[in-house]
Amino acid sequence: MLLSTAHAKTHDHVMPKIPKDGTTMTDLIRSIATDQKHEAGQPFYILDLSTIVRLMDKWNHSFPNVKPFYAVKCNNEPALLTKLANLGANFDCASLLEIDTVLNLGISPNQIIFANPCKAISHIKHAAAVGVNFTTFDSKLEVDKIKKWHPQCSLLLRIKAPSDSGSLRPLGKKFGALPEEIEPLLHYACNVAGLKVVGVSFHVGSIAQDPTIYREAIANARAVFDVADYLGIPKMQILNIGGGFRSTPLFEEIASVVNEAVQDFFPDPNLKIIAEPGRFFPETAFTLVTHVIGKRVRGEKIEYWIDEGIYGSFRPTLYNSCFVGIKPISMKECCEIGESTIYGPSCDSLDAVAVDIKLPELELDDWIVFYNMGAYSKCAGTKFNGFDMLSTPTYIVSTNST
Ligand code: PLP
Repeated sequence: MLLSTAHAKTHDHVMPKIPKDGTTMTDLIRSIATDQKHEAGQPFYILDLSTIVRLMDKWNHSFPNVKPFYAVKCNNEPALLTKLANLGANFDCASLLEIDTVLNLGISPNQIIFANPCKAISHIKHAAAVGVNFTTFDSKLEVDKIKKWHPQCSLLLRIKAPSDSGSLRPLGKKFGALPEEIEPLLHYACNVAGLKVVGVSFHVGSIAQDPTIYREAIANARAVFDVADYLGIPKMQILNIGGGFRSTPLFEEIASVVNEAVQDFFPDPNLKIIAEPGRFFPETAFTLVTHVIGKRVRGEKIEYWIDEGIYGSFRPTLYNSCFVGIKPISMKECCEIGESTIYGPSCDSLDAVAVDIKLPELELDDWIVFYNMGAYSKCAGTKFNGFDMLSTPTYIVSTNST
């Protein structure tokens, strides 16, 4: 692994001096962990910006006609957002604070979609005040709120994805208009409230497993465009294919299904296609380094306590343990492999990060490294039990991975 640049600062943590060319990720972790600038024993993240560059290339190659609006909820690390903006991404914000986070980086309000179909009035007013003029809706009441507080806003009708059981985290129960609601909603929004509905949006659910659900959703979006034509609504121009992507080989398969479906159902070359990828960009770019703060030996089994847990980066409802790689870094030369459990620091017995896994024996002050930790991790952290898992520092590097 070659370190090309190592710069930047996040949360007031200056990047410590890191080793030069030829170093491995383990060398890098050791050097940060033992650097005097790093607070001893504190967990930390490493963000590799070169992964983001590589993933944006991959996106542009697979989806040359789909503009990514990165879903800020997935990971709001400023250095990540800045890099994505520099690489040409726009942003999906779900709240007032996410909008401000993006705007405070100097990004234009025109680059933001307020992609939350149910927004508090104060958030709608804020969007109007700062010039975020693009949002989604899936209910009549939302139309009323937008009409009253932000009537200039352009809208996408969020529809329920047809079979989002094809993804690990379906969203269709909570979000999206049902087929029978589409005509009355379009009529109400455009012909009664006089708002501009400019397109359709869907999300097949996070971690999509079955590419064909995108095709079904695009076919359903086509039907909505047809209803709009029938109602005499000014021609809609935007199709938002949502998120659900990961940087795995399935991504190319999904892209080819989506591209083909767009050609089949939307031959109009003027259609603008956007997406809201979350997990795709940060998941593999972030590595979390935790610290062994306790140990107990029970017969053959060893239990460890680390300084990150389910009230921090390991929220079980959000991150996906099956994608995470675990690597212990021991200060000892050679250690025996044994059955181990890793607990988080809180006094909640549910706070277990990994149960009955094989690890070499570790000691106090050793490190346990978790790879692929960039999606829905630190941003979901809390201060539960007095453990502040919101301020874990992030060190930013740019490597050429081999
Ligand atoms: N857009 C919306 C409206 C979402 O609710 C989500 C995730 O919940 C995303 C985009 C990002 O999804 P993913 O991380 O699966 O790409």
